[in-house]
Amino acid sequence: MAYKYDVLLKNGIVVDPVNNLEGVRDVGIKDGVIVEIAPELNPAQSKENFDLKGYYVVPGLVDLHIHASSWLGGRFGHKMMAQAGVTTALDMSGPIDSVLDIARDYGVGLNLACINYVRPGHTVTDTNPSEGELETLLAELLAKGAIGFKLLGGHYPLTPEATVKAIEIANKNKAYVAFHAGTTENGSNIKGFAEAIRLAQGKSLHLAHINAYCRGQVRSYLEETEEAIQALKENPNISSEAYLSPVNGTSAECVDGIPQSNVTKKCLEVGGFPATEKGLEEAIMAGWAQINLESGGRVILAIGEEAVKFWRSRDTDCTVSFAVNYAEPRIRLATAKRDDGKFVVDCISTDGGGIPRNVTVEMGLALVKLQALTMKEFVLKASYNPAQILGLKNKGHFTLGADADITVLDFERQKPFMSLANGKVVMYNGYVCGSGTHIITTAAGVDYVKERGLETIVVDFNESTFYKK
Ligand SMILES: [Zn+2]
Repeated sequence: MAYKYDVLLKNGIVVDPVNNLEGVRDVGIKDGVIVEIAPELNPAQSKENFDLKGYYVVPGLVDLHIHASSWLGGRFGHKMMAQAGVTTALDMSGPIDSVLDIARDYGVGLNLACINYVRPGHTVTDTNPSEGELETLLAELLAKGAIGFKLLGGHYPLTPEATVKAIEIANKNKAYVAFHAGTTENGSNIKGFAEAIRLAQGKSLHLAHINAYCRGQVRSYLEETEEAIQALKENPNISSEAYLSPVNGTSAECVDGIPQSNVTKKCLEVGGFPATEKGLEEAIMAGWAQINLESGGRVILAIGEEAVKFWRSRDTDCTVSFAVNYAEPRIRLATAKRDDGKFVVDCISTDGGGIPRNVTVEMGLALVKLQALTMKEFVLKASYNPAQILGLKNKGHFTLGADADITVLDFERQKPFMSLANGKVVMYNGYVCGSGTHIITTAAGVDYVKERGLETIVVDFNESTFYKK
């Protein structure tokens, strides 16, 4: 017989702020979209049924800052995101070819977009690339399926002039552009953050992980947090996210005895270690530096001798995390609102993926329990807002006809229980069962992505809140 629904989610507490819904409902899914939501739908008319009594059923989580490339995050990022309840994500560095390869070979059914780094000595010649060089790079990246630029300022800075040009060129081409604040003149701190807002000159820009500039490097971290909030209130052209994990993630790569990333050097100093390769080894042994190490099909944080051995086996080229995020800035940035009631920081992100800190559910639901966020607000920050910034009109809400991207939450345990992307179950009770990846790309990248054996979701950034704010 022909079924009316492919999947029926029964008896869950459905939360959808866009349609002002919070109550027990059944959700009917057919051909990858939501076709019916009602107090009682007939299970006999569905191919598959799930009884979700007591669970929350919310629009699939959209993580606007993750890493899942060979350069950062690695091959287990997709699985780790699925286990964390994420259904859609933005890889915030690329390189795009590696992101596509991993998405094809290790995909678990998620939707993924990628912005590619503008990195001196790698994608551009030096710290001050010309307009022509940046134009050419952007065209190449878009043709390969990336949606725009990532400026790695805090780690691998450009000059302020080149940073301005990169933002302008992305805006002119209606491509995406995100910035980890920092230039050759300012570091990854509140001064670099203020400079980033100046350099945007009112243009659209995604400022990454706002919490990273509120670590007390320049003023007290509380003052820095309030300064960041004030600046974001005054500059609505900036889209932003902040994450809730105590740990950061940066490069452990050393050349000629010195860490290559400025962030890594700073973290060593903060922990009382010399900003050298030797200092990093001491910090790993002491437990201040935690090496991201693949183990048992995922990435874990490791310290001591085993971690040093892995780091050496990779010629120091791997990821390292430091517990540099204080609790107050994390909480304040997650909850601060503008005068009109909208959130100052648009999204809760993780900067996770393959970096083990995919804690949006775990820590976001802690904020709901604390009544610092309502469940509807949690959905706005972890699903709807990031979906709209990415131009994904059919995600982040449960309007009939919307994509059946759904995360099921165990509120008591603060864990995701199940998730579906495009109508298919990708995770159930921690077991990841999806396959493939839908790559979110612009029209320019469709052919390239398809040639690599991946499916596409085409977005037009004219339609996104990134350019409509
Ligand atoms: Zn990142």
